[in-house]
Amino acid sequence: MSEEQTVSLVDVLEEDEELEEEASAVLAGSDSDHCSYPQGYVKRQALYACNTCTPKGGEAAGVCLACSYKCHEGHDLFELYTKRNFRCDCGNRKFTELQCKLFAEKEEVNTLNKYSHNFFGVYCTCSRPYPDPDDQVEDEMIQCVVCEDWLHGRHLGCVVPDCVELQEMICESCMNRNPFLWTYAAHLAVPGADVQVTVVKEVTEVTEVTEVTEVKEVKEVKEETGADESNTNLPNKEEKGDDVIQPSCKRSHEESEPSCRLAELLTIGQRRVQSGAVFWPSGWRSKLCSCTACQERVSAASLSFLLDESDTVLAYENKGKNSEQTQPGHDPLMSALDNLNRVQQLEIIHGYNDMKSELKDFLQRFAAEGKVVTPDDIRQFFEQQQSRKRRRVDAGRFYSP
Ligand SMILES: [Zn+2]
Ligand SMILES: [Zn+2]
Ligand SMILES: [Zn+2]
Ligand SMILES: [Zn+2]
Ligand SMILES: [Zn+2]
Ligand SMILES: [Zn+2]
Repeated sequence: MSEEQTVSLVDVLEEDEELEEEASAVLAGSDSDHCSYPQGYVKRQALYACNTCTPKGGEAAGVCLACSYKCHEGHDLFELYTKRNFRCDCGNRKFTELQCKLFAEKEEVNTLNKYSHNFFGVYCTCSRPYPDPDDQVEDEMIQCVVCEDWLHGRHLGCVVPDCVELQEMICESCMNRNPFLWTYAAHLAVPGADVQVTVVKEVTEVTEVTEVTEVKEVKEVKEETGADESNTNLPNKEEKGDDVIQPSCKRSHEESEPSCRLAELLTIGQRRVQSGAVFWPSGWRSKLCSCTACQERVSAASLSFLLDESDTVLAYENKGKNSEQTQPGHDPLMSALDNLNRVQQLEIIHGYNDMKSELKDFLQRFAAEGKVVTPDDIRQFFEQQQSRKRRRVDAGRFYSP
């Protein structure tokens, strides 16, 4: 057991390559050598904002992964993680000085790009930087899948469930902007609004049980009325002739069309408290109605991506992992990474280049002492990285104007 857990320095240095691959899983589909501009508005990509080139007070701009390396090296960059439907701005009209080294032939602006305060390094409804030098509270940042802002767990207005990384979150203001989502929330989402959590949970369970019977009842009633009508129509038919048959045929044709799931849920009613952010279980997108009317509704609200399972960050990360063809498991570095929480993972991956050289130094100390490296050593290294980062931020506070 302990033999399996200890690895030689050579192993670890080889696995350093794999750590790089893990990083590129998170930066999946984001080419680190070529500007993504020629691909147009990329479905999802890693993005950066440059505080050196486009500081607060000016126009917001975002650059692709390759440009962050090649055109903004040494600049003060905000890591935006991934955003959807964005086209690289590097060197366009928003940049007064800088020329893109990778793809200079850009239009003046990308009119379809959406910007937020994230592009100026602030996040959440409280508009604070992350990490926040004035905030000692340990808190998770969670990204809203609709507006793509990052929010503090404690500013979501709901109980943050366990395993948040497996659940997509929609923030309260995005919910309120699209009220039909509350209808889905009552039936699909993870229950969890403030004090009423348990009550709501019970109600939801009850609703789920009655849901089936109620739907059946509605259908039965419809069938009965249909039958009744045709029964009462029968004598009329004889009296009035063929004209009457037409509308009843039409009606039965309409009833055979696929029904709208959203409309069904609306008839069932909902008792969920309509406040706070909503967490959705995995696979929830496939449960949304995609009838013609609903497709039009989501498209009008610019939410068509919700009907697309491949839009999720999870799908994006899996794509990256598959394209790298890494084999998970058997890897102490990888399992050390897996045991860190999501924010730590992101910080590590985002600060990967800084960390890589420090990791090499760290490993060389082991080589000098002729020691083997254990997963615990690696974990300790990451923890030191974290606290050093925090100290650096705290120190910065006293020197910044
Ligand atoms: Zn670019
Ligand atoms: Zn820059
Ligand atoms: Zn560039
Ligand atoms: Zn906040
Ligand atoms: Zn939102
Ligand atoms: Zn529908």
